[in-house]
Amino acid sequence: MERLEFIKTVAALPILTGTGMKLNALNKLIETNSETKQMPVLFIGHGNPMNAIEENTFTKEMRVLGNKITKPKAILMISAHWETKGTFVTAQEKPPTIHDFGGFPQALFDVQYPAPGSKWLATETQSTINKTAVELSEKWGLDHGCWSVLKNIYPQAEIPVIQLSIDYTKDAQYHYDLAKQLAVLRKKGVLIIGSGNMVHNLGMVAWDKFKEPSYGYDWALEASHKFKTHILEGNHNALINYKNLGKEVQLAVPSAEHYLPLLYALAQKEENEKITFFNDVAIAGSLTMTSVIIQET
Ligand code: ZN
Repeated sequence: MERLEFIKTVAALPILTGTGMKLNALNKLIETNSETKQMPVLFIGHGNPMNAIEENTFTKEMRVLGNKITKPKAILMISAHWETKGTFVTAQEKPPTIHDFGGFPQALFDVQYPAPGSKWLATETQSTINKTAVELSEKWGLDHGCWSVLKNIYPQAEIPVIQLSIDYTKDAQYHYDLAKQLAVLRKKGVLIIGSGNMVHNLGMVAWDKFKEPSYGYDWALEASHKFKTHILEGNHNALINYKNLGKEVQLAVPSAEHYLPLLYALAQKEENEKITFFNDVAIAGSLTMTSVIIQET
């Protein structure tokens, strides 16, 4: 609904309320129809789950981001760590914090991110996507790909969050096309965030180099350069067909789950929007933290 149309609708409300329209019905009308300025879109390189509780240059950048962006009405998170057969959205009023990892200090298991869920956004996402049937899930919650990032961007956990799962049976083109259907949510105050890592090869991590501020193998840096060039040039087809981008990229993306959230973010980009990179470094040889903001100029 256009702004003018919305104002007209609201102008007609005294008559409606006079005939017994209840206040919560009025609130609902405003909730479903209020359009805001187009929200930016983010792709966040989440890296080590310890970023949830550590102070470092990555977390500092994420914190700055939270203060820069217009406060969203709700967040739609596509995390590398929720893969399913079929497509789901979390639909609980209070999504649990999931500690989906092992071998980390107790302090990380103690982290809670008590953001509320959003039935509104869950059903809105469900009706917005017609490429496939989206099911409401009470079984998942917020995984570490989600909360390790949001703990830094929105530490108060006051903004409602839902997650959208990644169907592991589908290819990159499918995910990109599905992601395109989410774009309308940006005008409804929804912040869409993809959380993964562009270069993510855990099998080749240089564990002894994890503490260094920046360390990347040549192939990882080359893959990162290719990704960024295609992102800046808007060459999404090349990024969708990443398997054809050469040996470096094959090493950078040995499995799709950490890469696909990038495509979810890029699919939102409109012609007039600009791309900004941040946290653009390689760590531990085979990972990059490179993150992306897509926003109107
Ligand atoms: Zn991860």
